[in-house]
Amino acid sequence: MRYRNTLIPTLREDPSDAEVASHKLLVRAGMIRQVARGIYDFLPLGLRAVRKVEGIVREEMNRAGAQEILLPAVCPAELWQESGRWDRYGKELLRFRDRYDREFCFGPTHEEVVTDLVRREVRSYRDLPLNLYQIQVKFRDEMRPRFGLMRGREFLMKDAYSFHATVEDCEREYELMAETYRKIFRRCGLAAWQVESDTGAIGGLRAHEFHVLAESGEDTIVHCPSCGYSANVELAETRPPTTESAPPGGPKEKVATPGRRTVEEVSAFLGLPADRFVKTLLYRTEGEEVVAVLVRGDHEVSETKLKNHLGVAWVALADDATVERITGAPVGFAGPSGLRVRLLADRALRGARGMVSGANEADAHWVGLDQERDFPGAEFGDFRRAEAGDPCPRCPEGRLEAHRGIEVGNIFFLGTKYSEPMRATFLDAEGRSRPVVMGTYGIGITRTVAAAVEQHHDEKGIVWPPTIAPAHLHLLPTHWSSPPLRETSERLYRELGGAGVEVLLDDREERPGVKFADADLLGLPLRLVLGPKSLERGVAEWKERAEAQPVEVPLGEVVPRVVEWLRGSLERSKHG
Ligand code: ATP
Ligand code: MG
Repeated sequence: MRYRNTLIPTLREDPSDAEVASHKLLVRAGMIRQVARGIYDFLPLGLRAVRKVEGIVREEMNRAGAQEILLPAVCPAELWQESGRWDRYGKELLRFRDRYDREFCFGPTHEEVVTDLVRREVRSYRDLPLNLYQIQVKFRDEMRPRFGLMRGREFLMKDAYSFHATVEDCEREYELMAETYRKIFRRCGLAAWQVESDTGAIGGLRAHEFHVLAESGEDTIVHCPSCGYSANVELAETRPPTTESAPPGGPKEKVATPGRRTVEEVSAFLGLPADRFVKTLLYRTEGEEVVAVLVRGDHEVSETKLKNHLGVAWVALADDATVERITGAPVGFAGPSGLRVRLLADRALRGARGMVSGANEADAHWVGLDQERDFPGAEFGDFRRAEAGDPCPRCPEGRLEAHRGIEVGNIFFLGTKYSEPMRATFLDAEGRSRPVVMGTYGIGITRTVAAAVEQHHDEKGIVWPPTIAPAHLHLLPTHWSSPPLRETSERLYRELGGAGVEVLLDDREERPGVKFADADLLGLPLRLVLGPKSLERGVAEWKERAEAQPVEVPLGEVVPRVVEWLRGSLERSKHG
């Protein structure tokens, strides 16, 4: 590639709408441009990085025995109606009509379409298993597209779907995909964690997410350094506290708390710590039932756990009017005692004594509340978000740490969630008709590119892992107008290209300072500088983007050394 005729519109300033490093740097490095909210152009270098990630994904998926297909982006509504998701998916689904007034959507994911393919083509257990994948543009009308490629509305995804005769065979494939994903992210130069994740309201099924740790991540994951337990915080299990011998119950007493509503305000007012409070939150759920969720004052409700416990698709905090109707008090004074709705209490409250809660009355709280005496009807469960410092739910001595993560992929054991409603069946060895057992496996291709930049950059620009860099080497003659520099550069460009090295030759007549700044910003893994003085001495300056100091390499050795360096870096990525 020659810099001069490649579209690389670099910028010195961060775009004003960009908050995270990958968004800023991909725009500044001239790799992407926004067209509309969450919708981007990929310029030559950006696209090359995307294609590299795709290439790795494709190679590893093929190696694992999956077969590449391409499904339509435009999907008929009928298939989505069959699965029930046409109504459930909500506004993220972009719907439209064709000229005959038939309804379609732009596929945000393809379980329906692929299940339809398989139900038409698969007859017998002999046709199974199958793992079909595609790399395709998806559209989701995200409520908050942001962070550039991290949460776009249009983005590239690798989505795979596997079909099996038995649960055991699907579990085998699930493990194979987990291993394949670990390889893929390692080869992309990413440290990714495999963490347990939400399976939604369908119980008993398994799911894992793969997260790239980064401060800008939208998810929180907890991890136990002792036993390795890792989970998305939304569903990470908590261990109920070992009940200390609680003080014997005192009388329950109503105290005036004028204008104090939050745990913080009341705790400061009464001089009692937050863990002595029962926080009472009213939720509306699918089906319009109202439930009260109780957690200790220093804990937070996990809506994911609540949803799964209730087996519903959504829960939402009740509005003020509902709270007032149910508690008979303004918002901020709800408490479990005497409340006439279903009470779901976190296990940390079981047997708790001497607690404080709202009195379901304006400007009043109860103190001295005993769970067994004052809200005996509560139904206990794990309803709180795990937190850093919590005891590990799996091992005796560990304490959980919390990290921010970017979800780059996930694997999901679906069972017969789609095959049953869509009647995707096969005949087993005894000739009985049974629903196929399914798994689904996604990777955000464009999000992975962003995550790589989040994990690999410095104040000057991107530091691409060699395996997914838009090119391997930035060849930088300081003065293009100098004939000997130009000739040597052209010769190296030809020879390196011939040896399979991807070179960006900076053939611009720019000041050296500009060229150096652009090289750092673009972040190709290796930079070779040719200057008039070093040329006289017969050397080139060799600098790896990730290293601080340059070294000199004799011109005659450049090609073999680059080839060796490249082979080494690509090889290392395979073994981690
Ligand atoms: P999220 O919780 O981040 O919205 P999701 O659970 O909706 O993700 P999936 O439906 O499982 O994600 O999609 C598979 C993969 O596609 C995700 O792991 C992620 O890498 C990627 N992905 C999902 N939504 C987006 C988006 N809006 N922009 C870019 N990549 C995305
Ligand atoms: Mg989503």
